[in-house]
Amino acid sequence: MSAMIRINNVSKWYGEFQVLTECTTQVAKGEVVVVCGPSGSGKSTLIKCVNALEAFQKGEIIVDGTSVGDAKTDLPKLRSRVGMVFQHFELFPHLSITDNLAIAQVKVLGRSQDEATEKGLKLLNRVGLKAHAHKYPGQLSGGQQQRVAIARALSMDPIAMLFDEPTSALDPEMINEVLDVMTELAQEGMTMMCVTHEMGFARRVANRVIFMDRGQIIEDCGKEEFFGSPRSERAVQFLSKIL
Ligand code: ADP
Ligand code: MG
Repeated sequence: MSAMIRINNVSKWYGEFQVLTECTTQVAKGEVVVVCGPSGSGKSTLIKCVNALEAFQKGEIIVDGTSVGDAKTDLPKLRSRVGMVFQHFELFPHLSITDNLAIAQVKVLGRSQDEATEKGLKLLNRVGLKAHAHKYPGQLSGGQQQRVAIARALSMDPIAMLFDEPTSALDPEMINEVLDVMTELAQEGMTMMCVTHEMGFARRVANRVIFMDRGQIIEDCGKEEFFGSPRSERAVQFLSKIL
């Protein structure tokens, strides 16, 4: 099977503290994998390793055939091809929504301003926000800003998308509008790794669920198996608290 993201035996330390221990998994093209687990278990660290926002000391990660840890790899190029959406939207507050969407296309991909603006507007339309193009991030709700952040990541034509708790900072009534955009993306065949505690989303959309605890991947299985008969006591406990 050809994997879009292959994580082989990855270990990482912060000084003496081992944050990841021999993590191994893969994500096939078009597959949606939900990563869950207790706070501090290493979920953010693992997905940041995938697009080289964090370095790791052992193992390897291959994204679409490119080794992330290889010193010869063009990391800015790799990062531009793997979209990342964080808990906090991190839009540029002093730029309009249109410019937020265009800037990386122009600076990183070398697109013309016109081309970048046009592409940005198309994507804004796709996330239901075309009417807000001229506004500034501070004029939008949290849910709207997060949808802009997703559109911005998509503007780079990513081969995969990583989400790190994209709805955890949102008021409850805004969570679904963001999950709906993510669901559509999944249905269109985007390869996705999503750290989220939205188990309804996992049940509906995920192909697989990874459960992490203390830096290790404890479960990595189909969602039916994960929700129906998790193998580890730790996953059972986690699910009993969250569901
Ligand atoms: P999660 O996303 O599952 O909550 P993280 O990947 O953020 O977990 O963190 C895993 C562990 O690594 C935590 O114990 C956290 O305190 C620690 N950690 C995260 N970032 C750093 C850092 N820059 N330096 C030292 N320890 C860190
Ligand atoms: Mg985290």
